[in-house]
Amino acid sequence: MAKIAVLRVITAALLLLAAACAAPEQQTAAPSTPPATTTVPPPDPAAVGANELGVVPILMYHQLSRTPAGDYDQTPEKFRAELDRLLRENYRPITVSRYISGAIELPAGTHPVVLTFDDSTTSQLSFTAEGAPAADTAIAILEEFRGAHPEFGATATFFVNNEPFADDPRALPWLAAHGYEIGAHTATHANLGRLDSTGVQREFVQNLRAIAAATPNQPVRTMALPLGISPADHALVSAGSWDGTPYTFDAVLLVGAEPAPSPFGALDPTAIPRIRSGRAPVPFDSGYWLDQLAEHPERRYTCDGDPARISFPRALSTEITARWSPRSAPY
Ligand SMILES: [Zn+2]
Repeated sequence: MAKIAVLRVITAALLLLAAACAAPEQQTAAPSTPPATTTVPPPDPAAVGANELGVVPILMYHQLSRTPAGDYDQTPEKFRAELDRLLRENYRPITVSRYISGAIELPAGTHPVVLTFDDSTTSQLSFTAEGAPAADTAIAILEEFRGAHPEFGATATFFVNNEPFADDPRALPWLAAHGYEIGAHTATHANLGRLDSTGVQREFVQNLRAIAAATPNQPVRTMALPLGISPADHALVSAGSWDGTPYTFDAVLLVGAEPAPSPFGALDPTAIPRIRSGRAPVPFDSGYWLDQLAEHPERRYTCDGDPARISFPRALSTEITARWSPRSAPY
């Protein structure tokens, strides 16, 4: 049994290499070869209802406040309650980079969820005099949750502007050192629909330069559009350059308003939907979609526990894209 599993991993790795050689333009987002260290074989995909072509909720948060002012803001208590619900319903967080690269290495039967925070405000991260995350910030809550529920593996992606977190120089290095992803959100939170092409590219490059100055060893691969608004030349959200500095993004996130497709199915990486989580229930928010996915579990991404294969019910066989079909494992 173990020999078969090892052979399967080697075969998948060779197929993946062949696919990478055949499609060099896709290498930037290709996953690394899955680890072949598992000694206990993962369970039968059918037994856990594996569906790695199912949808993934990407939740969008803004400010945490005891007195939330904006519709996109919420109380620390509501955020804690949402984490409790995600854990109870067997979700496990991954970063946007892991989602887009297909590196979803979670236990069998769990569901990936992506937690994203926009605008780099101090309600997400600020520090006590001793240098610890301040109480009731998003990071303090995530870290408490990580300690209380290590199996949840709390993580998130923070889309930041320039002078992030009230320009506290500790913030970005702290996020990078603690396993959180930093993504781009433009230098000035610009409405990109109102800028010319030079202005759009300047916003991205100035943002990336500021992030790189604080965290030089953590390349930025993902970006969320401020206000969800694309520039007139949509291609500039994926790649461009300004002042001699080129940029590329593997994943571009929108504002609304539905779960994201599986990374192994039909997905436009330049327009990935997110689900809002705010102070009060509104149509198509996180409460609505988590209810929907609980009622229709067959729509949800459910892991098979084996990063080397992509498991799904055979009826969905036409949905996997050619790039990922070498790892296809219908049942
Ligand atoms: Zn924003």
